[in-house]
Amino acid sequence: MDLQSFMKGVTRRNPAEKEFHQAVKEVAEHVIPYINQHPIYEKARILERLTEPDRVVVFRVSWEDDQQNVRVNRGYRVQFSNAIGPYKGGLRFDKSVSLSILKFLGFEQTFKNSLTTLPMGGAKGGSDFNPKGKSNPEIMRFCQSYMTELQHHIGKDVDVPAGDIGVGEREISYLFGQYKRISGEFSGTLTGKGLSFGGSPIRKEATGYGCVYLAEEMLKRKDECLDDKICLISGSGNVAQHAAEKLIELGAKVVTFSDRNGFVHIPDGATQENLNYIIDLKTNQRGSLKTFAGEFGFTFYENEKPWKITCDLAFPCATQNELDKYDAQILLKHGCQLVCEGSNMPTTIEGVHLFEEAKILYAPSKAANAGGVAISGLEMTQNSIRITWSREEVDRHLKTIMHKIHEQCVEYGNKGNNHISYLKGANIGGFEKVAKALLSFGVV
Ligand code: NDP
Repeated sequence: MDLQSFMKGVTRRNPAEKEFHQAVKEVAEHVIPYINQHPIYEKARILERLTEPDRVVVFRVSWEDDQQNVRVNRGYRVQFSNAIGPYKGGLRFDKSVSLSILKFLGFEQTFKNSLTTLPMGGAKGGSDFNPKGKSNPEIMRFCQSYMTELQHHIGKDVDVPAGDIGVGEREISYLFGQYKRISGEFSGTLTGKGLSFGGSPIRKEATGYGCVYLAEEMLKRKDECLDDKICLISGSGNVAQHAAEKLIELGAKVVTFSDRNGFVHIPDGATQENLNYIIDLKTNQRGSLKTFAGEFGFTFYENEKPWKITCDLAFPCATQNELDKYDAQILLKHGCQLVCEGSNMPTTIEGVHLFEEAKILYAPSKAANAGGVAISGLEMTQNSIRITWSREEVDRHLKTIMHKIHEQCVEYGNKGNNHISYLKGANIGGFEKVAKALLSFGVV
């Protein structure tokens, strides 16, 4: 089996889905050599099966805006694989949402969920609906219309959606309210719920915290720690906020945040006061970081990315392909020693190759941001046994899971000479469990 002809087939069957091609290629680069050493996987065509989603649901979402205009959006749910558990993955509401983006996210999710060691399959969904500038009643009507169709395809043992870009606690609450109303049951069919109705402590924080816990493990293996490290963060949403909170708590200096308008530079490192302002600005006012920079007297770089600032560690936490080969070159030139991906596939494939060649500590998103879905998995467990664990207990579980993810990366990514490719480790570690399950099922 060779990469080129395999990718040719993927491209031919999924024309114009460039994000999906990118995600598959990144995995196939490591998994194909592994399959060649384990011919049973080739014979059973496991990778071919894993690059074809179980099913894709596409539907119309009609809703009425505040001026009584009828609006029409497109809704999706990509159920990628339920080989090792019910489909599980977030919903993204953003004008950029396309089938290609959701297929890349669903494919990645399958491997990520496997790495968590919890029984969860992979899925992703969402809509090209743009929540920016919409009123709460508009968001509510959209969510209700979206769920009216989605509810046919989900369920606590079937498919359990959660949040992602543009879908936070407010949206999950509207979606859950409509699901409960139509199905007549109170179940853990969505995760990321409010704490008063079945949500788990730490779920909101889990992706950002987990990303920092993994970075800590990677540094620890090199006898290093986070103390006083200069960190770049991109994004200023859920993942960025909680990665920053944990980094500050552990003694690191967070010197940037970004949004769609540019980035802010905080030379001495953000304080908790700065962070509280950003959380309020982004969660409650949906404002721009430019306002934050103005308020505290920091420089705001319009339409620029933060990667040109000298740092020790970089945490991309905004969106896909936000760090290209030029950004990677600058980070390496400035001596960056670790890149830990909070967002999904933030680094282009050329950038990834540069990090791998330079042998810096590079954790791909499927390992680095798996803490979020892991705690979603624990939210499902808590809902099933009708109990809520304490914050401390869930945080302990999160640390243990990130530790196990680190162990799997080390086991499968050992390249000799004490060098670990976390990319290789995550790809093969994630693949192995799903592949074994598929083999056991026969030809399905
Ligand atoms: P949010 O919507 O809370 O925040 C997204 C942030 O990224 C915002 O600051 C937004 O800017 C910025 N952003 C979005 N698109 C762009 C763009 N095209 N260019 C520049 N900046 C952009 O999302 P999350 O924090 O939840 O998600 C961030 C990433 O983490 C995504 O890749 C998501 O898939 C991934 N992820 C999230 C998980 C979770 O638990 N939430 C779990 C695992 C992965 P602005 O404020 O201007 O909108």
